[in-house]
Amino acid sequence: MNKQTPVRLLSSYKRKTTFQEVSLGYNKKEALLEANRCLNCKNPLCVKGCPVNVNIPLFIRYIKEHKLKRAYQVILKQNAFPGICGRVCPQEKQCESKCIQGIKNEPVAIGRLERFVFDKQRSSKINNKVVKKHKSVAIVGSGPAGLACASKCLDEGLDVTMFEALHQAGGVLVYGIPEFRLPKTIVNKEINQLIEKGLVLKTNYVIGKTLTLDELLNQYDYIFLAVGAGFPRFMNIKGENLNGVMSSNEFLTRINLMKAYKDEYDTPLLDYKNIVVVGGGNVAMDAARCAKRLKAKVTLVYRRDIDQMPARKEEIDHAIEENIIFKTLTNPYKIVGDEKGNTKAVYCHKMSLGEKDASGRASFNIIKGKTCKLKVDLVIMALGNYPNPILKESTDLVEFDKYGLIKINEKYQTSNPRIYAGGDIVTGAATVILAMEAGKKVAINILE
Ligand code: FAD
Ligand code: SF4
Repeated sequence: MNKQTPVRLLSSYKRKTTFQEVSLGYNKKEALLEANRCLNCKNPLCVKGCPVNVNIPLFIRYIKEHKLKRAYQVILKQNAFPGICGRVCPQEKQCESKCIQGIKNEPVAIGRLERFVFDKQRSSKINNKVVKKHKSVAIVGSGPAGLACASKCLDEGLDVTMFEALHQAGGVLVYGIPEFRLPKTIVNKEINQLIEKGLVLKTNYVIGKTLTLDELLNQYDYIFLAVGAGFPRFMNIKGENLNGVMSSNEFLTRINLMKAYKDEYDTPLLDYKNIVVVGGGNVAMDAARCAKRLKAKVTLVYRRDIDQMPARKEEIDHAIEENIIFKTLTNPYKIVGDEKGNTKAVYCHKMSLGEKDASGRASFNIIKGKTCKLKVDLVIMALGNYPNPILKESTDLVEFDKYGLIKINEKYQTSNPRIYAGGDIVTGAATVILAMEAGKKVAINILE
């Protein structure tokens, strides 16, 4: 009763050779055991910790009562995509961090229960009556912000067209987050359901190039800009132009979207033996764990210590189980190549920690004279992302700040009242649920 019901995992041995989902989720017995840990609090703080305020005690109560369809309906009221959120939300920092059970014991495993309900109910149809409003919305970008906005707008009878630069919809959910954390069948099913509800999806459309924002504004009543912040950051060190240095975006897109690890696809990755991933966030863990599945020796290089890593603890634990080598307090300063321009080695400074900096984490300093050299044929830079400048360079219709993020008011409106913006392009890199929350609120504001 004091501890969370453990979830079954794919063995770490099997994980090295497959992109199959690592967490197997709860079965009915495990879900009931976990649901019974919920105290059904009168003042459920967990709900306050959930960015979209799902009625957590109520859906858990329905699990206890074996009424899974009702549990599903309760979740869907606030969150259109529980199968995605149950898998990728950082619950330990949100609802679970506020759970009353968590004061003396481990908090209720709310995320795992949410996933359980979705997995059991994913094929059930929830029919809403839709009254047509004859107003049109163009959504630019098909990540969680765009999808959440589309879902709400379609449910309320608006005509929705979604423009996506890539050949497949889903944003980071399909090109960034690996299959072993979020199977693409789940994301594709959600998108197909929106298409069944009337979504017009136009892929291979880069707004700012294929069509301008002005052209969109002439054709649609409202526009929602949900283009994310997917432009990679590099270290600006010597050797970053060599063959065999990639951003995490490029690497993950090749793996997730182009399936570069499968022989039958025409965009293969080389047979890398030694891969170094630079970074300590979730993206670095995803890149390292994908690299491991290519059967390479993988070293993760991070300038602070493991305790300061921004990645989720679960992801760090899984990476360690999968034999990824953690080289902390280490920071690259030079990459060298062979005579053909292929990456051969990374040179790193050893680092020490100092006082806390503005981010609240320990600052880091180079230890003079202490360096190390790592043999490598692929370096993956997982250092965070900027907004892509394409849109900014193509329009004066909306205002951007000095970081290239779009400025909005409290109603998510940009400097043009018919154009809204939300998700990572407004906040900078954040989370799936915060992007979904923005998308949903934009839909509500448009409807008002
Ligand atoms: P995105 O998901 O980035 O989608 C934007 C879409 O807009 C993209 O498909 C892009 O191609 C398209 N686009 C861009 N420019 C144009 C244009 N000019 N015209 C047309 N289309 C355009 N968050 C979590 O909560 N949990 C996690 O486990 C997690 N893991 C992550 C792992 C990785 C590798 C990354 C990169 C991020 C992760 N995040 C995670 C963060 C989360 O995915 C993002 O915060 C979220 O996806 C932002 O949603 P968005 O809709 O704003 O943008
Ligand atoms: Fe249940 Fe925890 Fe929420 Fe209380 S705070 S209702 S115990 S999940």
